[in-house]
Amino acid sequence: MSTTASKVIKPDFGSRQKHFIFNEDHDRLRESIGRFVEKELAPHAEKWEETTFDDWVFTRMGELGFLGLSMPEEYGGQGGDYYSNLVLAEEMPKGNSGGLTMGVAVHTDMAMPPIHLLATEDQKQRYLKPAIAGEKILCLGITEPDAGSDVAGIKTRAVRDGDEFVINGSKTYITNGHRAHTIVLVVKTDPDAGYDGFSLFLVDMDSPGVIREKKLEKLGMHASDTALLAFQDVRVPAENLLGQEGKGFYHIMWELQGERLIGAAGCVAGAQRVFDKTLQYAFDREAFGRSIGHFQVIRHKFADMATKLEAARQLTYSTAWRFQNGEYPVREISMAKLFASRVGMEVIDECLQIHGGAGYMKEYGIERAWRDMRLNRIGAGTDEIMLEVIGKSYGL
Ligand SMILES: Cc1cc2nc3c(=O)[nH]c(=O)nc-3n(C[C@H](O)[C@H](O)[C@H](O)COP(=O)(O)OP(=O)(O)OC[C@H]3O[C@@H](n4cnc5c(N)ncnc54)[C@H](O)[C@@H]3O)c2cc1C
Repeated sequence: MSTTASKVIKPDFGSRQKHFIFNEDHDRLRESIGRFVEKELAPHAEKWEETTFDDWVFTRMGELGFLGLSMPEEYGGQGGDYYSNLVLAEEMPKGNSGGLTMGVAVHTDMAMPPIHLLATEDQKQRYLKPAIAGEKILCLGITEPDAGSDVAGIKTRAVRDGDEFVINGSKTYITNGHRAHTIVLVVKTDPDAGYDGFSLFLVDMDSPGVIREKKLEKLGMHASDTALLAFQDVRVPAENLLGQEGKGFYHIMWELQGERLIGAAGCVAGAQRVFDKTLQYAFDREAFGRSIGHFQVIRHKFADMATKLEAARQLTYSTAWRFQNGEYPVREISMAKLFASRVGMEVIDECLQIHGGAGYMKEYGIERAWRDMRLNRIGAGTDEIMLEVIGKSYGL
């Protein structure tokens, strides 16, 4: 068989973003979010490391329609699919700030989905609509000082009193906790009912008895605010119960699945960004008379990193495809979350190494990415908990 020159097929090394889950609408969305993030958010990244990011980010993103990409149009959303949220998660790292990416994701992909799924029409008007518009900032309260991984171990109580519930307890590590107008709060309503004893509430953060105790200092994600919150005899109207009373544990486990997948996409995109930057550095930096990227050992590091990133991306996309199409693939979501956050950390650590001393210096931004990325192996379910979920899914 002979091959003419015109039939020679050359490898296509530039097709990274082409995947069957994305169409031209997603491409356009990617383009406009990416442009916005680079132009309007990235220039503030350094300052926000000191001050946390400004609240205007929410109003501006609300104005542009970026906070309700997969929310119904009747509430001000864009009516898009779950993949639109993946696009947002993949473009936000262009802001060079893990804290910013996380603060926005808590609003759009942690606190908002349960409101969309479970809220009454009245609740949607009061909470979903203003959240999509960026007028009300959301946070989500699961973790407590004595219970994180063990969600069923939370102690915050809501006790019915006529038409109200009275809430007492505390929550910790709450992202957006200092700026939020509303918290989606996980509480115990019946301590004797096991997994059927939890409920969710929409609590206005300016209610009497809600105390924003302190801003917590942390290793990375400095642009986000992290709060320790106390709830002391907080009276909440019964109509603020979100979803079914007693079904809060199942509601929040559902919420965590969407959040974990978005987290996986964010890890891959964040690490890819650092990879790209490091690749350029490896071309530019010379040692022993040649670009460091041309040492085989460095070239192989890139090959390794690229392979892991691609595997994490494909696992995330194929799981997202199942999620979007109505499946509830908890095992694969846990795998994607576990694998992407591990790969993200491995890649950024290797990129720091390739930068040498420069990687350790603040001005290159690699050390910040390293500190920010580390959270992903802990937040939204630790590596160990993901392994437990995956292992138990085999009946072990
Ligand atoms: C910056 C930041 C932001 C956060 N934002 C939020 C937020 O907005 N809202 C919110 O509700 N929470 C938030 N969290 C909390 C986060 O989800 C928890 O930290 C996480 O789930 C782990 O809980 P923990 O810290 O209590 O650790 P623990 O549950 O005490 O775990 C400690 C260690 O024990 C391991 N471990 C626990 N149980 C098991 C087990 N069964 N088998 C094996 N190992 C186990 C864990 O993997 C971990 O290594 C945030 C945390 C951080 C650091």
